[in-house]
Amino acid sequence: MRHSDVLVVGAGMAGLMAAVTAAKSGASVSVLSEGAGVISIGSGAVDFLGYVNGKKITDNPFNHLSELGEMHPYNIIGAENIKNAFASLVEISNANGYEIKMNEEGLNHTAISIAGTTKPTYICSESNNASRILKAKKILFAGVEYLKDSQPALAVKQAKQYKIFADAEINSALLKSPFGKTHRVLNCLDLARYVDKEEGFNWLKSELSKAAAGYDAVIIPPICGTINYTKHFKELQNLGFILVEAVSIPPGVGGYRLRHALINEAKKLNVKFIENCNVQRAVIENGKCKSVIALHNNIAGALETEYTADNFIIATGGIIGNGIASTPDKVYETIFNITIDSPVSVEERSDKNVFGSHLFARFGVKVNSKLQALDSKGSPLYDNVFFAGNTIAGYDFPTEKSGYGVACSTGYTAALSALASK
Ligand SMILES: Cc1cc2nc3c(=O)[nH]c(=O)nc-3n(C[C@H](O)[C@H](O)[C@H](O)COP(=O)(O)OP(=O)(O)OC[C@H]3O[C@@H](n4cnc5c(N)ncnc54)[C@H](O)[C@@H]3O)c2cc1C
Repeated sequence: MRHSDVLVVGAGMAGLMAAVTAAKSGASVSVLSEGAGVISIGSGAVDFLGYVNGKKITDNPFNHLSELGEMHPYNIIGAENIKNAFASLVEISNANGYEIKMNEEGLNHTAISIAGTTKPTYICSESNNASRILKAKKILFAGVEYLKDSQPALAVKQAKQYKIFADAEINSALLKSPFGKTHRVLNCLDLARYVDKEEGFNWLKSELSKAAAGYDAVIIPPICGTINYTKHFKELQNLGFILVEAVSIPPGVGGYRLRHALINEAKKLNVKFIENCNVQRAVIENGKCKSVIALHNNIAGALETEYTADNFIIATGGIIGNGIASTPDKVYETIFNITIDSPVSVEERSDKNVFGSHLFARFGVKVNSKLQALDSKGSPLYDNVFFAGNTIAGYDFPTEKSGYGVACSTGYTAALSALASK
């Protein structure tokens, strides 16, 4: 049996942020996780709040928090915690090789996707910040041969529909693949890993130099490296044009870089990672969580292992992460078996419009300002258990563009609550 001051379940954005925040204050922290979380495949562009009620925000997102309603996680934890969490994330990431930043005026950045659409995001790397090319007159949208996810000719058609690009000439091109035709579909992470090596970096530099002649700006898929991204991107910026990495569908590479930075920091702080293990249930004694029981997936015939802690942070994600499960009979949180309010009819759980605001996206555990789960009367269920990220109810990250923002800020706040209850 292992004991920690703080035990975090889940190693996505919320769990990693919680683990690092708690460990920074000297607590002994363990992280139990089954998988790597959505952060490992996402774009790494940290969305805070891009839309409210379908309307795009053009001023500071903090001005719009009150429109989200008091049950939204941002309003439950408050603006101060959000600001401190974002500042801490930027500091951690920059200290660990992935340079990211906020807009100095407190506005959202514009990111451009691999499909030529634009999206508002709050914290991102310089390469993802497409606001830098809004004044460019001649832009090249470049893909890579056999990289199926990037179709630059289609992306150009899409980008030309935006007023912000109305005055620009935008063309497309394909960089020659370093691998030729591959036995399986090539993705952005394959290329980014290749670019980490000197040979791969030289390939990218040479292909870009040839393709970019005469252009003010070049947009490429996120392939400037994984662990060597910052060094490589800095060097590529000297080629004489503005280089932008589009945000991509999974694997988005930027999220992989961000995860790497957070894990680096956690390891410096002696956080213990126990991976490939599924937390099956919690042991409750006298209204408190005593331990969680985990099964190690990578050990054939493994027995259940008990992990005790003073405080627990549950950052197991929503329906995607497996923190919330939905069956025709009920919707529930998967470790404590907390019932989640939901319509009986499964049809009512989603919107007919596939890009609409789906009720299931808001499913989660109802919490108080300490992020403790609440019972039906509004009282905390367990004093020493705090929830973070997509496990929490009341927000719809795809339509709001608030995914990593809520995960980061609630992970940070859950750690503060756990430390305060020591
Ligand atoms: C494809 C995709 C792209 C996205 N892109 C962006 C983006 O560009 N910007 C943005 O801001 N947001 C984005 N989002 C949203 C954002 O990624 C999520 O809102 C956020 O990552 C949720 O983080 P989380 O830590 O709460 O959960 P998750 O990332 O889902 O992590 C859950 C963790 O808990 C673990 N876990 C679950 N159950 C158990 C268990 N029983 N035992 C042990 N471990 C368990 C999982 O293995 C995982 O480690 C995207 C989402 C998706 C699906």
